[in-house]
Amino acid sequence: MTRVKVDLANNSYDVMVEAGALENAANHLAPHLSNSRAFIISDSNVGPAYVPKLVSQLNAEGIKTKTLELPAGEGTKNWQTLEKLTDWLLENGIERADTVAALGGGVIGDLTGFAASIIKRGCNFVQIPTSLLAQVDSSVGGKTAINSAAGKNLVGSFKQPKFVLIDPLVLGTLPDRELRAGYAEVVKYGLIDRPEFFVWCEQNGGKLLGGDPEALSYAIVQSVSAKAAIVAEDEKELTGKRALLNLGHTFGHALEAETGYSSTLVHGEAVAAGMALAFHYSVRRGHCDNAAAERVEAHLKQSSLPHSLSSASVHATGQRLVDHMLLDKKMSGGTLPFLLANGIGQTFLAQDVDLHDVAAFLDHSE
Ligand code: NAD
Ligand code: ZN
Repeated sequence: MTRVKVDLANNSYDVMVEAGALENAANHLAPHLSNSRAFIISDSNVGPAYVPKLVSQLNAEGIKTKTLELPAGEGTKNWQTLEKLTDWLLENGIERADTVAALGGGVIGDLTGFAASIIKRGCNFVQIPTSLLAQVDSSVGGKTAINSAAGKNLVGSFKQPKFVLIDPLVLGTLPDRELRAGYAEVVKYGLIDRPEFFVWCEQNGGKLLGGDPEALSYAIVQSVSAKAAIVAEDEKELTGKRALLNLGHTFGHALEAETGYSSTLVHGEAVAAGMALAFHYSVRRGHCDNAAAERVEAHLKQSSLPHSLSSASVHATGQRLVDHMLLDKKMSGGTLPFLLANGIGQTFLAQDVDLHDVAAFLDHSE
């Protein structure tokens, strides 16, 4: 069992990583509940597999539970479902001292965290993430959001959980493609500032993708520690440090937009190709040597992740992809974050990227 502390100015909390933790969830969760009531939110894939056992354990410890199962998928992160969720919490008499628990992937975590931040002006919240992406990324750091007509994740809040309980064994039921997509975000932490962890990924990625619990646990702990360290320096994304977590995301979002946010390319896959592009673009700008970019591309390829435009099934012109980036920029109202690298584990925020040059680079990328 490993505990990673997320050390924030006003909201420190533990992330517990333990294979089999869900078998003992009542004991792990009890110290983090202010009273003995929990509202458990899950989705239609996770709920049937994990809610009944969790509920019977909690009830056996004297913790009362109410459960709500929402449809699986990104479409659930919307206003209508938020309203349905908050109405349900209120109809069931939620009080501020009660705990709302998100049991699911990033969709359930983001939606439930947002609801917990606004219900009665904020109630207790815990995360029990069940996808690899949620375990290594979305459950830690306190960002919550829903999607709206103007775009993804534009309505939301910062709501740090009281506790995050991670059981790598639940990944046994996660579809292989989702595991791979989450792995792209794992590799990201090595590329941002942990070169030794990238080497570990090169050596152990195959084992991890084969479902090896030890490899998964190690990678989750490393990823959560890396994210916690960055978030602790810049909780609300004010200094630029937290922006490092967006490595591969500017290119990646353009690829997602080009493929219509469809199942052609799921988020982690777009990020994988985006990271390879960010490294190759860093070579073009003279920041990084070609061998490093080739290593990144080779590892993603070996992990059966997209690692180039063509392997991401994107055949658009460079200008069209840059237009997607600009739209992204306009929508987020800030500067266009371009994360480039001096080498593996040496990412930095470049302020002076010429978008004509990016378009020309993409036109010459395969
Ligand atoms: P998701 O929640 O849709 O989960 C992916 C799929 O796997 C779903 O079909 C889900 O039902 C299923 N699933 C999850 N756990 C399972 C399990 N153990 N067994 C079987 N099936 C399981 O998507 P995701 O990839 O987990 O998260 C993506 C979301 O996270 C996006 O909405 C994204 O915006 C958000 N996100 C948020 C942050 C943040 O900091 N808040 C960071 C990254 C991503
Ligand atoms: Zn991401």
